[in-house]
Amino acid sequence: MLPGDLLGTAEEFVPGRGTYEDHGRIYAALMGHRHVDPRDRAVRVDAIHAIPNLGEDDLVYARVDEVKSAMAVCTVLSLASGRRGVPGAPEGTVHISKAKEGYTESLSEEFQPGDLLLARVLQSVPTVKLSTATANLGVVSARCQVCHGLLERTGQELACPRCGNRERRKLAHGYTGLHGVPPSADAPHPH
Ligand SMILES: [Zn+2]
Repeated sequence: MLPGDLLGTAEEFVPGRGTYEDHGRIYAALMGHRHVDPRDRAVRVDAIHAIPNLGEDDLVYARVDEVKSAMAVCTVLSLASGRRGVPGAPEGTVHISKAKEGYTESLSEEFQPGDLLLARVLQSVPTVKLSTATANLGVVSARCQVCHGLLERTGQELACPRCGNRERRKLAHGYTGLHGVPPSADAPHPH
């Protein structure tokens, strides 16, 4: 429901929280889900918060949008647990000091735009800050920078089965090479 959406008439329902009545019609006053209480026919709108419900230490999937000298700018797509989407797809950043353990000389040798990361939330407010430092975190899916094929893991490197290009990333222990957020652990391989 969006603000101003018609919920029903005042003959059908009693206006509740998150609604307003105008000329015998009840409308949503905010963005949210419509709910009718069957006991008293009260209609209300439960707000959807655009602010991501992220907490410190949550593991998330994030897509790398841009790699700058000091940070990778990402879109946070979903929580890793339950693969729940994060409303509003907020921006998150991985600072160069949080990309891996030890010294990182160049962030562009760790990440590339389009990579899918498994990352830990260091801070969620006011901006989302992420870390991929530990072995379980990092790139879980990457595309070839030459031909955009999905890269496959060969040891500590990635290789493109289409054009043979080899690339490096800060790989997560569980690099899958699957495109997009894995819907489940046993999803079929796209090849
Ligand atoms: Zn390739």
